[in-house]
Amino acid sequence: MDGEIVAIYPGSFDPVTNGHLDIIERGTGIFDRVIVAVLVNVAKDPLFTLEERLEMLRDATSRWQNVVIDTFNGLLVSYAAERQARVILRGIRAVTDFEYEFQMASMNRRMAPHIETVFMVPAEAYSYLSSSLVKEVASLGGSVTGLVPPLVERNLHVRIQRKDTGKRV
Ligand code: ADP
Repeated sequence: MDGEIVAIYPGSFDPVTNGHLDIIERGTGIFDRVIVAVLVNVAKDPLFTLEERLEMLRDATSRWQNVVIDTFNGLLVSYAAERQARVILRGIRAVTDFEYEFQMASMNRRMAPHIETVFMVPAEAYSYLSSSLVKEVASLGGSVTGLVPPLVERNLHVRIQRKDTGKRV
């Protein structure tokens, strides 16, 4: 649709947390469409496969009509142009996020001046939450209830139990 404002929300989402969902929900209230784009990054050695991460995202975002789940490879600005997105949406938790995000936003602007990076701040309850912390807590037997969607919680338990028993999943 002409004049529609599309935002890309890029990330690894390994796995999606309630912090990500908080940002997605805020995005749906402002933009016509939010495309959650999972980076196909072989270098990062993720806990969940790309397909698993997509499935958890689809499940957790099915309540929003204007959210699309997709994948991307290569330059984010090229992907954004391909999808005719005018906005790159990112979440900022603390000052520690700022430097990296500032660098990325500045570099992306240099490459694609018409694409705007928009930062959003999650609810306080999620301001310390990251996918890596969730994985660490879950692997040590701590509870992640309320920090991730129910399907993610179940998948984390399964993955960790299998690791314990040495089975490949
Ligand atoms: P990346 O590898 O790009 O950092 P992530 O999946 O970790 O991918 O994060 C994707 C985006 O979501 C980033 O902008 C990140 O800052 C943001 N984000 C991650 N966790 C949270 C959270 N708890 N609250 C708000 N934003 C978050």
